Amino acid sequence: MSRSTTAPVEPSRAALGRPPGDWGGRPVWAEIDLDAVADNVRALKRLAGPARLLAVVKANGYGHGAVPVSVAALEAGATHLGVICVDEGVQLRAAGIEAPIVVLGHTPLRQAAEVVAQGLTPTVNSLRFGLALARLASENGRELAVHVKVDTGMGRFGSTPDDCVRLADSLRHLPSLRVEGIFTHFASADEMDKEFTRRQMDLFLSACDRLPWIPIRHAAASAALLDLPETALDLARPGIAIYGYAPGTARDRVTLRPVMALKSRLARVRQLEAGESVSYGRTWRAERPTPVGLVMAGYADGLPRSLSNRGAALVRGSRVPIIGRVCMDQCIVDLTAVPDAAEDDEVVLIGAQGKGWIGADEVGELAGTISYEILTGVTARVPRLFVRGGKVVRVQTLTGEFASEPD
Ligand SMILES: *Cc1c(COP(=O)(O)O)cnc(C)c1O
Repeated sequence: MSRSTTAPVEPSRAALGRPPGDWGGRPVWAEIDLDAVADNVRALKRLAGPARLLAVVKANGYGHGAVPVSVAALEAGATHLGVICVDEGVQLRAAGIEAPIVVLGHTPLRQAAEVVAQGLTPTVNSLRFGLALARLASENGRELAVHVKVDTGMGRFGSTPDDCVRLADSLRHLPSLRVEGIFTHFASADEMDKEFTRRQMDLFLSACDRLPWIPIRHAAASAALLDLPETALDLARPGIAIYGYAPGTARDRVTLRPVMALKSRLARVRQLEAGESVSYGRTWRAERPTPVGLVMAGYADGLPRSLSNRGAALVRGSRVPIIGRVCMDQCIVDLTAVPDAAEDDEVVLIGAQGKGWIGADEVGELAGTISYEILTGVTARVPRLFVRGGKVVRVQTLTGEFASEPD
């Protein structure tokens, strides 16, 4: 990197090669630990046994950054990637990723040409869609792998077992199409009671028995993989566990390392007099003289507004409460527990600091939701700093993307 005396160094570029906390732009950023992604993939692969691993990277890799997460997951041994829509697959192809990409969701007929052109692996839920894909694939002189989905109780997407068997048997004979996979999705695998999951599994296996020529059977997302590893079959399909969280009551039976930290800095520290209030609606008032800090993160960054007067942050390793309403771009914390807190101190909203820890699952619980929604809710305005070996290797911001090494 060359530095000129006239051109200012862009903060995004300047962060490359440095330790993660060194971000020099607006003080809110997400650190994405790609080594944790790799460790999680390896741990989940061990759990899946002989089954291979499809890393679910939909929704921008659960908010972490789909491309760097995909690259890290593939390097760590995942063989497939899973997305929900065609555009998400196209984004990965545009980044040069050649691994099989299964589009797990519904694809509208008019996107068939793009599916074929990009070599994505769609879920086919109608003969009409299958015929369109087969025609396009033959025209392009290609063979296209497709998957079919059985609805065994999720009641969302997929065909009944009978319809799925009929559909797969028809698709089987179409030229240029190869029915490579059959899958289902569990509705309540993250609950203690596994009875419904077992029932879904039985239904799925009996559909698979009627289609023994389909090579890849897959069913287990994170919860089932963690709690009932025998459901991994030929391909495990975890999402949230790759990002370091066990869903619902699923047991943390392997060590998962949370991947994302959401951080900020104190933009200002000041003393409130007793009786003074903070933020919209004046929902919090100082009962006594109180030191407070301004944090430059708000609900437009993904910090839920429902954390108003409920959430917490870490400053100098101590937990401090979020007071008053969370605004669009900022929020306020009570610094009574950290009397020596000073302007520019790091503030952790998700992640570790000293002995303190705030997980995305805890934030979700406080906000009345789940870790998934917290992680995917971190908006595009928040720069992603991708970390490997303790250094920032790539930065993604609203204004561009910079990598310290070509990938
Ligand atoms: C999102 C999704 C997954 C991953 O689920 P997690 O609970 O995050 O592991 C797996 N399969 C399908 C079909 C999905 O939509």
